[in-house]
Amino acid sequence: MSGIKRKVTIVGAGPAGIAAAQQCIREGIKDILVLEKEEIGGLIRQANKIENLPGLVGKDGRDMVKGLEDIISRYDIPLSYTEVENIENIDDGFGLVTDKGYHKTEYLVLATGTTPRSLGFQEEIYHPRWRDHSGKKVVIIGGGDAAYDYALRVNRLGGDVIISRRSEPSALPVLIKEAKYEGIEERMGEPEEICRTEDHFIVQYDQEKILADLVITAIGREPNILDLDIDDNEISFPTGTTEFPGLFVVGSNVLGTYRQTSLCWGMGIAVGMKLGRIFSKQD
Ligand SMILES: Cc1cc2nc3c(=O)[nH]c(=O)nc-3n(C[C@H](O)[C@H](O)[C@H](O)COP(=O)(O)OP(=O)(O)OC[C@H]3O[C@@H](n4cnc5c(N)ncnc54)[C@H](O)[C@@H]3O)c2cc1C
Repeated sequence: MSGIKRKVTIVGAGPAGIAAAQQCIREGIKDILVLEKEEIGGLIRQANKIENLPGLVGKDGRDMVKGLEDIISRYDIPLSYTEVENIENIDDGFGLVTDKGYHKTEYLVLATGTTPRSLGFQEEIYHPRWRDHSGKKVVIIGGGDAAYDYALRVNRLGGDVIISRRSEPSALPVLIKEAKYEGIEERMGEPEEICRTEDHFIVQYDQEKILADLVITAIGREPNILDLDIDDNEISFPTGTTEFPGLFVVGSNVLGTYRQTSLCWGMGIAVGMKLGRIFSKQD
């Protein structure tokens, strides 16, 4: 990557990052780049059934990903598969240390989403690859929306699912109802250990152990802001303006418990509009 300073760099190609990029282009800001370390689409790729986005009700999260890919191609959004490892303050902007070299930018939008919380066991899996799970025993740990959404998907893929939660479920009533209707087993308790043999996972509880083919942990998520010391209270909604001039944080990494795609999308648009105003004043 070159030493040239770009105008706007957006980290993350989930809903928030793509909305920000599209709006920047609509505002006439051409010198932008989106950096994505994994795949386009972010976390919504994992959703089994979307219920709260117009045009996508009842659809799989991967249908939204197709929509994001369509926007990238229609708006010619420049995207590089690059992981940002560290961020430095430099004169009039930011320096990004990435797995592909050093990169400078005048304005930086972090749309980096969230990182799954861990139970602290090495063998945990957070983002499974969805495939035919026929005849496979799958333990899903957690009691929130993601745990129930995963359970329904695995069940529909033929898996023999157990939801393992330590307290009453906190998922949406509709998800709990569907899981009950589909006969998904639920058990109370917290694993003391998860380990792996050559072909199985062992989930060890106080009095019992379960042999499983797959264990998925879905016990909540933490903001992913790359060790930046940003004061949450200073981040404004909806533009994601921070106490650092030129640095914006948008999407699920700042939305706390309101991590819904429409809000992430809205923040992405808002920061694009804000940048549009900044650049129109500079011209
Ligand atoms: C099972 C499940 C079901 C869901 N169902 C719904 C639903 O029905 N409706 C709804 O509104 N929401 C739903 N959600 C939530 C939705 O997925 C999130 O709100 C949304 O994806 C957040 O968007 P985002 O752009 O803020 O972050 P993310 O989607 O998490 O995207 C962040 C992106 O940043 C990239 N990234 C992170 N760090 C770096 C780095 N250092 N360098 C480069 N790239 C980086 C990541 O790889 C990722 O692609 C669901 C989530 C799950 C898990």
